[in-house]
Amino acid sequence: MRIGVDVGGTKIEAIAIDDAGRELARRRVVSPPGDYRAMVDAVRGLVLALDDEIGEIGEKASVGVGTPGAVSRATGLIKNANSTQLNGRPFARDLADALGRGVRLENDANCFALSEATDGAGVDHRMVFGVILGTGVGGGIVLDGRLWTGANAIAGEWGHDEMPSRTELDLPDTHCYCGRRRCVETYLSGPALAADHARGGAAPLGARAIVALARSGEPGAKATMARFYNRLASALASVVNVLDPDVIVLGGGLSNIDELYGEVAALLPGHVFSDRCTTPIVRNRHGDSSGVRGAAWLWPPARQR
Ligand SMILES: [Zn+2]
Repeated sequence: MRIGVDVGGTKIEAIAIDDAGRELARRRVVSPPGDYRAMVDAVRGLVLALDDEIGEIGEKASVGVGTPGAVSRATGLIKNANSTQLNGRPFARDLADALGRGVRLENDANCFALSEATDGAGVDHRMVFGVILGTGVGGGIVLDGRLWTGANAIAGEWGHDEMPSRTELDLPDTHCYCGRRRCVETYLSGPALAADHARGGAAPLGARAIVALARSGEPGAKATMARFYNRLASALASVVNVLDPDVIVLGGGLSNIDELYGEVAALLPGHVFSDRCTTPIVRNRHGDSSGVRGAAWLWPPARQR
């Protein structure tokens, strides 16, 4: 049995699955605000509760944890997390001490990619590029069933690359919270889509409303979405030119836009440096559960060991 925990800013969710990926139990608690020790205790409490609920006598479940941010290869400490009480802390080590077993920890976009590669929309593909398009833009790479984290634990994080500045993309200047300008995230996140629509003087709308308006034929919203599709295709093409993954799986709130799959897949070949590009762009299978499931799969299924 394996337990996966997804530590978020507002809630901590935990799941227990068996070797076949069947969900056995699930629990969630509100994230304790501000206090690091309380965060460790909350994760410990969830794991022990799941142990009790479905645990096998004499065998402890493996524990994987997904968090925002990343684990520094240099120090083992968490960096870049928006749940800031985790930053600078040896979260994996403290959880392992609290639970009396090894704990594997990865960033949430990597957990998404691993979940979809293991038994989701990317299964049976050798290289899976998992993309989060939500309040932020992230990504993760899985090769032959294994997460590829990279020498600096930053593999797949394309959200803070500079957007390819092709003239047809008609890019406004943007500033990112990371301190750089024109990051991919500032054009392709949900808030970025809303900001792009409002930039031309349109009433401020959320992503969902803009999509609905575009479907109704409203020219301004249609133009906003056309820009979004083209920019997404261009940014993904940069990834394809370097990695050439076998499949691109989309996750996060914007992955629910049905039109993405046809429009962006059709535009992608025009941006890729190849005579042909047949890379499928597909919707995730596990939705909001990909975070906890991917965390659980940080201890791989037996067939991949
Ligand atoms: Zn940035």
